[in-house]
Amino acid sequence: MNQSFQYPIFGPEINCPHCHQPIVALTLTDSYLCHRHGAFEADPNTRDLVHLQSGRQWRLWQNEWYRQHSHADGIRFEIHEALDEVYRSGNQVTKIIIANRYQELITGYLERNNNDIKSFKLYNIPVEFSSESDADERWQIINFDFATEPGIPQRYPYFRLFE
Ligand SMILES: [Zn+2]
Repeated sequence: MNQSFQYPIFGPEINCPHCHQPIVALTLTDSYLCHRHGAFEADPNTRDLVHLQSGRQWRLWQNEWYRQHSHADGIRFEIHEALDEVYRSGNQVTKIIIANRYQELITGYLERNNNDIKSFKLYNIPVEFSSESDADERWQIINFDFATEPGIPQRYPYFRLFE
């Protein structure tokens, strides 16, 4: 029997998406067990990692777990945290690109730009979606990306939203 068939798709060991500690696979199952966070199951078809207790899901890209959101608030909060980080590094975000698979989920929560039905903003920053025909595997996994420029924006319309 091929050794690799004894392990789930992500191999004998992964980092826990919650605590980032190495956690081991339970052989002959699709599960990994974190002693702090419980069991995670790898779906060999979708390549999702599912936290059995909460149903939260992640996908892996270049050794990093990306949470797969099922609520608009989740992705908005993640974007807000990332905007804060860019701001702290002395840069400004000029555009937010959101993965196309979230378009339906999040469109109702975006601000309309000048009543143009195809033009959106989030935290007063222009939003685009990744291209629908984008075969880029990365965009099936990551949630969003930013276009940035050096320098401090003149105002922080997004700064107080979650206070
Ligand atoms: Zn953990």
